[in-house]
Amino acid sequence: MKKIIAVITLCFLVFTSCSKDDNDVKSNNKKTLGASAHDLLSEDKFDSMVIEVVYVEGFEPSATAINNFVSFLSSRINKSGGISVEKRSIPVPGNTTYTNAQIIAIEDANRIHYNDGSQIAVWAFFADAKSSTDTSTSVVLGTAYRNTSFVIYENTVKKLSGGLYKPSTAVLESTVIEHEFGHILGLTNSGTTMLSAHEDPDHKRHCNVSSCLMYWESESGSNILGGTIPQLDPQCIADLQANGGK
Ligand SMILES: [Zn+2]
Ligand SMILES: [Zn+2]
Repeated sequence: MKKIIAVITLCFLVFTSCSKDDNDVKSNNKKTLGASAHDLLSEDKFDSMVIEVVYVEGFEPSATAINNFVSFLSSRINKSGGISVEKRSIPVPGNTTYTNAQIIAIEDANRIHYNDGSQIAVWAFFADAKSSTDTSTSVVLGTAYRNTSFVIYENTVKKLSGGLYKPSTAVLESTVIEHEFGHILGLTNSGTTMLSAHEDPDHKRHCNVSSCLMYWESESGSNILGGTIPQLDPQCIADLQANGGK
């Protein structure tokens, strides 16, 4: 009898210690938006990065957009050990809209990569349906919601691109991905300190330069001019450089 109790106790201890470690590991990737800006920009703790790109079947982002995203990162963050992308699909979850809670639940159920040793991990989800906050006059194309997580509403991006008088799908995808990642890098004034005052008082966390990637309208792609992806303005770049970026 004693033996059985001992065995049960041991199993319990092993189980609790495993699940505790697991939660500790995952908690580093479940912090607030902007909390990992310095770790992503600098090489102080992490010299490489893995981006887990997960899309609902049929809603794969274009290869051009992912390539653009990686070159955007390479030009701004210090990761001499490299930036790798792991892409895969998940079956259709069957949602007609997504609340933030549903987006978080999908990440928690499917995410494989968490910060590990000197490698920092990022989660990007490409959804097959619209945000539950969309209205007839305003739609959400993407949201950065945790320190290393963002969602792109790929179905909505596709609807607003690729036609006459519309930006190309790859340009709109790239703009929204890079804009959301700008928030994860702490722009503007939310995790990365501003060197000069350039936060838009009417649109918090956004830059007041209308041509900047971090201008609020970049989130909807409505400042895409001449079919090109908006770039960061010199003030946003200076902020990133002062926080460990390049
Ligand atoms: Zn934004
Ligand atoms: Zn800016």
